[in-house]
Amino acid sequence: MQRTTANWLIAILVGGALAPPALAAPCRNNTSFERWLEDFKREAVAQGVSRAVADSALAGVTFDPGIVSRDRGQGVFQQSFLQFAGRMADSYRVGTGAAKLKAHAATLARAEQQFGVPPAPVVAFWALETDFGANNGNLPVLRSLLTLAYDCRRPDMFRDELIYALKVIQRGDLTPTQMVGAWAGEIGQTQFSPSAYFKYAVDFDGDGRPDLIRSAADVIASSANLLAKGGGWKRGEPWLQEVRVPANLPWDQADLKIKHPRSQWARWGVTLANGAALSNDDLPASLLLPMGRFGPAFLAYENFNAFLEWNQSLVYATTAAYLATRLTGAPKVNPGRGAPPTLTASQVLQLQTLLQRQGYDVGKADGKLGLATRAGVKQAQLKLGLPADSYPTADLIVRLGGSAASAAPAEGAASRRAPRVPGPAQTPRAGAQ
Ligand code: CA
Repeated sequence: MQRTTANWLIAILVGGALAPPALAAPCRNNTSFERWLEDFKREAVAQGVSRAVADSALAGVTFDPGIVSRDRGQGVFQQSFLQFAGRMADSYRVGTGAAKLKAHAATLARAEQQFGVPPAPVVAFWALETDFGANNGNLPVLRSLLTLAYDCRRPDMFRDELIYALKVIQRGDLTPTQMVGAWAGEIGQTQFSPSAYFKYAVDFDGDGRPDLIRSAADVIASSANLLAKGGGWKRGEPWLQEVRVPANLPWDQADLKIKHPRSQWARWGVTLANGAALSNDDLPASLLLPMGRFGPAFLAYENFNAFLEWNQSLVYATTAAYLATRLTGAPKVNPGRGAPPTLTASQVLQLQTLLQRQGYDVGKADGKLGLATRAGVKQAQLKLGLPADSYPTADLIVRLGGSAASAAPAEGAASRRAPRVPGPAQTPRAGAQ
């Protein structure tokens, strides 16, 4: 998650660490594979893996050029929250989620008691990641990780993950043959990175070992454990609530970094989605406008951080949190008053370049509309005297000196990403992503 937090929990996402932009310069590893493998095993042993496990688990595991092609072939495919949620949190998933809530009610209740995380968020991730185990992925994880660790793009991250995979094997959770998953090495029904598996997987069906591939009870408890320990979940608190915003707000306050008591939002005219008054209390909340001031609106509570820890893509995290609210009975989201069109990846890249040129910090210029880019957009909006809702438009590109019309659409080149958590830049998980 971030997918797992420095982990991949945290990393993943749309734009997560797992699947970084495909716009990076070409590179290559100049060390021979054999020499590299020997160095890697030495490092694994230094970190607590026995030489016997490293030798036996990696015996015969080869470099797979197909994995590298998939990794490098990832395109950037921008989807807005409404597009992504419309596809990933649709009535089918709400329906199957409700059935899973019922079928696993006792286990989910036991997990909530132990970890403090209620059933809906757990079931929402279970649905989004693999449709409850239907699309775990069937590629050998060690081969994928070894390939990506030897490849030059993100060697450090995958080297660490490969070491964690060996530790999971050494602990006896899975054998190397059992350890299959998505192409970037995510494992099981909620697609844990090996590091998340090692840190957060728990045995909940009592057979003595965590099995996130086959045991629903282990999947439920481990996901709750990750949200609790990796995501800092606060027992008994909400995570997301749809609201209605007035035509005039101090828009620059709509920012996940800014929290106000719920009563302050009420004073500014924010109501529940159905027009009813917000609770007049001091629960801290941020106003989340995933598509700017004309789109859907939510109050994001402190537990929303756990969703961002799972996957740092704002669109993915918001979709997961929204699906979880649907599973508790919330109605379908109001699309707002006509959100502006979503920029293409090449438009976002142009915007990032323009912002950087003018001194704004947008993070990495990668064609993805992530939190860092939204922060840069907000600064530019403030400077230009525009409503600072952090949501970029073609008009903003023009005001910054660019040409919105010249930005070629990116969808044609889009491919899917595959990371453990499908993000807006990824495909719906149909096997791998
Ligand atoms: Ca078990």
